[in-house]
Amino acid sequence: MRTGFADLHHTVLKGDLCSYCGGCVPACPADVLSYARERPVIDGPCASGCRICFDVCPENQANSTVLDAYMADHRPAVERQLVGRLADPDLLARTGSGGVTTGLALYLLESGRVDAVVLTGFGGANAWTPRPMIATTRDEVVAASGPKYALTPTLSVLDRIADEGYERVMFVGLPCHIESLRQLQTAGDRLADRPRRAVRAITHAVGLWCGNNFRAEGTERFISAAGIDPAEVTEVGYTRRDGRLEFSVTTPDGSAGAPFGQYLGYLLAGQTAPSCQGCRRWHAAYADISVGGLDTPGLKWSGFMVQTREGQDLVSGAEAAGYITVQDMPLDERARLGRKNTRSRGFGTPKPRNSEGNQR
Ligand SMILES: Cc1cc2nc3c(=O)[nH]c(=O)nc-3n(C[C@H](O)[C@H](O)[C@H](O)COP(=O)(O)OP(=O)(O)OC[C@H]3O[C@@H](n4cnc5c(N)ncnc54)[C@H](O)[C@@H]3O)c2cc1C
Repeated sequence: MRTGFADLHHTVLKGDLCSYCGGCVPACPADVLSYARERPVIDGPCASGCRICFDVCPENQANSTVLDAYMADHRPAVERQLVGRLADPDLLARTGSGGVTTGLALYLLESGRVDAVVLTGFGGANAWTPRPMIATTRDEVVAASGPKYALTPTLSVLDRIADEGYERVMFVGLPCHIESLRQLQTAGDRLADRPRRAVRAITHAVGLWCGNNFRAEGTERFISAAGIDPAEVTEVGYTRRDGRLEFSVTTPDGSAGAPFGQYLGYLLAGQTAPSCQGCRRWHAAYADISVGGLDTPGLKWSGFMVQTREGQDLVSGAEAAGYITVQDMPLDERARLGRKNTRSRGFGTPKPRNSEGNQR
């Protein structure tokens, strides 16, 4: 019998479609999967007839029927388009867009509604590589804010969620992470005890709008192109200089920054990961809330869509507790979202399989 990993190999890996979300490795009941060079590899025999690694893969096109049914049964739908931002002006000054995601995480954590938040910081294998993390303090949540323009196996922390005994967890990820998470949540007894306990503990899922993602080496190349030896870099992050957001790099010689637009422009001009080139799931349809940037000049707000009742309760609670400020989305932004929905992309360069990438 053909195994799940063979399906994953033929359908996803051979075509370079793996989005390196991190879902398949903890899902494997035989514990024979690991990651090498941003994709799953197998080291041992698959359990006969098991297809869980393929079933939880966001690139498995058969998934949407299962997910739609799961959402209809478990997450009553809400449709609201809002804009929001952190209410704390000092925190807001540090963020690139409105920081709604950070505000929601702080609200849930500090009100005791969750005991941990799964986020993605910098400082994985290298200073510029994303690092999946479990945040349990305000400082950790704040330090993780800002986009990491690189594939990241955020779901790889599932085993730690179970081992460290977290019982209520907020998860933040890109649309591919959210789809894999929901697949894992539908898998029930097909999962081993650890991942099953972990995904059951995830009570809130916040997705980011995503038009493009990149291999981590794209950021490494950007650093090199700026004349900095990546091996010397001890820290990267975002800072504000004269009100402008910069991607900043620290070495033992000091700090240097490049305008955020220049950094993103470099990545968009040729570093898009192959797996993202045909992806059409820009707004994380299966998240409770999905958050993105706005086009309106001068508006430092996040745009977001409330998609479930849990998402609605989360936004209302965070607003009432003074963590975020919320308004209805301006009409021109709604119109832009409507256009994006028909094109199914966020910002991006023209793609072989989707030539209508909508610039942010
Ligand atoms: C690869 C990528 C592509 C994007 N494309 C678009 C787009 O086309 N259009 C658009 O409007 N917005 C896009 N965004 C979203 C946007 O950049 C903001 O992340 C989003 O608006 C949330 O803003 P915020 O101020 O609420 O986030 P913050 O409060 O800064 O929180 C963002 C959180 O996202 C998490 N995160 C960051 N990077 C990653 C990652 N690579 N994988 C998983 N989690 C991560 C971090 O844990 C962080 O806490 C993209 C983001 C990323 C990472």
